[in-house]
Amino acid sequence: MALDAPNMTPAQASSPQLAKQDDIQQVLSQGAAGVSLQSVTKQYGQFTAVENLFLDIPPGSYCCLLGPSGCGKTTTLRMIAGHETITSGDIYIGDRRVNELPPAKRNTAMMFQNYALFPHKTVWQNVEFGLRMHKVPKAERRQRVGEILELVGLSHTSDRKPDQLSGGQQQRIALARALVTRPQVLMLDEPLSALDENLRVRMRSELRNIQKQFGLTFIQVTHHVEEAFSLSDQIVVMDHGHIDQVATPSELFDAPASQFVAKFIGDNNIFEGQVTKAVPDSDGLELIELAVEGLGSVFSRGHAVPVGQTAACSVRPDLLMIVAHDTEGTSSSPANHLPARIVDVELTGYVTRVSLLAEATGQELLYKVRTVEWSQSGLSEGQVVTLRWAARDCVFLPY
Ligand code: ATP
Repeated sequence: MALDAPNMTPAQASSPQLAKQDDIQQVLSQGAAGVSLQSVTKQYGQFTAVENLFLDIPPGSYCCLLGPSGCGKTTTLRMIAGHETITSGDIYIGDRRVNELPPAKRNTAMMFQNYALFPHKTVWQNVEFGLRMHKVPKAERRQRVGEILELVGLSHTSDRKPDQLSGGQQQRIALARALVTRPQVLMLDEPLSALDENLRVRMRSELRNIQKQFGLTFIQVTHHVEEAFSLSDQIVVMDHGHIDQVATPSELFDAPASQFVAKFIGDNNIFEGQVTKAVPDSDGLELIELAVEGLGSVFSRGHAVPVGQTAACSVRPDLLMIVAHDTEGTSSSPANHLPARIVDVELTGYVTRVSLLAEATGQELLYKVRTVEWSQSGLSEGQVVTLRWAARDCVFLPY
């Protein structure tokens, strides 16, 4: 394979993109499998770590289990891999029910935090390790390790120890070590969490490239929202041992299904109140009026619950509009309209985060704006402004 050809640019040479599809098919002869969880529960003594999970992960997709610490992501991943027993329910990999199968018989592989490469072994020995564990004969081991190192473009490093590799090369060796066992599903447990920000961004795009190129099912645990958004076909948001929402990144961004998801994925601004009116809209949704204490009416769109019921709505910080305080505007159009004081301005690069306090309700709000626009606005800390937002940008969240 030509990955290390001398006439390549450094960018080309460092990219595993160039492996040929035929070679990949030959090496990963088993193809991808989907994963299905049917009513899976895990209890540790009296404590329920995850409860009644239903989840379908399509073959060949990149799925991230996302949620705060302790929500049950790792337990779920470990149950799929077979490193943890399940208390009740069923797990299928492809069409095989794998509840009782040991990890080595599930056609899965695991890539751990920090890659967990053996520091005293060479690259070749690291990649070969899993095959030795599977008691694969020597000649076959030689062939398979050689092939996979070529596929990830690192044949020339086979005699090196892991500390003689760059961070990116270490990640590829860790992937090679997992892929050499010909898994149908690769599980990744926070593989990027120990890396600095720059390397993490580079490594996640490489992970995504390799997943696409090999066409395998990847299931990754992460608590980084940005990482899940950039990698996934499907994001599973978990909270307290339950699945709150399963969606594509853009569905999750545009339409979080619960207050927890809205807060967890994006600093969304949430308003709680009582449903006072719900009028059918042209596209099958309803225009819903919520009475919010101290604020008046807030309009959102969604599938409404009955009038009188407590509910909430959510608006993204980048969809707020901010104008210098205008008391006339307030009286003529009270909906989705809120006076607030700017309490903090944080320049984070291209985007500026503006924290506000709605003095009437004591609610903290967040507005995100392009830094160039913020500079031109002439607004500053301490000023009272009016926040506005369109009903179509405000997502209704039933309780
Ligand atoms: P983190 O991001 O911190 O790794 P997580 O979402 O992966 O968290 P899990 O490791 O799956 O969470 O743990 C879920 C819950 O189960 C936690 O409350 C944890 O303390 C508990 N737990 C995990 N393993 C065990 C165990 N072996 N015995 C008892 N409780 C456990």
